[in-house]
Amino acid sequence: MRRFEDSYKQKGLRRQLVDSIRQKGITDENVLTAINNIPRHFFLDTAFEGIAYEDRAFPIGEGQTISQPYTVAYQSQLLELKPYEKVLEIGTGSGYQACVLGELKVNVFTIERQKKLFDQVKQFPFKSKYPTLRFFYGDGYEGLPTYAPFDKVLVTAAAPQIPEKLLQQMKVGGKMVIPVGGQEVQRMLRITKVSETDYDQEMFDNFSFVPMLAGKTL
Ligand code: SAH
Repeated sequence: MRRFEDSYKQKGLRRQLVDSIRQKGITDENVLTAINNIPRHFFLDTAFEGIAYEDRAFPIGEGQTISQPYTVAYQSQLLELKPYEKVLEIGTGSGYQACVLGELKVNVFTIERQKKLFDQVKQFPFKSKYPTLRFFYGDGYEGLPTYAPFDKVLVTAAAPQIPEKLLQQMKVGGKMVIPVGGQEVQRMLRITKVSETDYDQEMFDNFSFVPMLAGKTL
């Protein structure tokens, strides 16, 4: 069950969450404003209503999680987004990160491999607030060749290595933010495509995401 009411109490808790994310090192004011504007409890079962503004990941069904707000802010900040850019997100999950991107006024193409999560997000009334979001059911390893090339690519699941097809679907000058590593821990990487054949790689902090899996489920 979900509840789509945003109380003063929840708004207050959200401001505190934004303060704590700021203290952890997020400096991009547009990202912080986006987190402040989005009722995270809308994306969770009512069972989590009282704790939705803790800086933690929570289960969203199908063994998946909504990312920790700090992680959402961290990845969003690394993308250095400008309005109207084309952004490909792998791992729609709850749709929360996609709505953060929507607040940042970019054109979002988000892919989910779990049919149940995809169907749930499609019915989610809050998403209509963001006309620049488009939802796709499929395997993120394939990307979206029809809509490529993208300015930015955001992977929100742990990738064993950088998916080749996603590199191909980036514009020259484009950036990809992706957690790469094993099951337990991954290193956040930012890849910049400097020419059709050359890439720069920057390394950031360690995180722990659910795995990026091949194929799609029914
Ligand atoms: N961005 C999400 C976090 C989701 S967790 C949010 O804001 O809630 C990671 C998601 O990636 C899960 O929903 C998982 O099903 C999905 N996923 C894993 N591998 C994938 C793939 N190959 N293609 C698309 N989605 C994938």
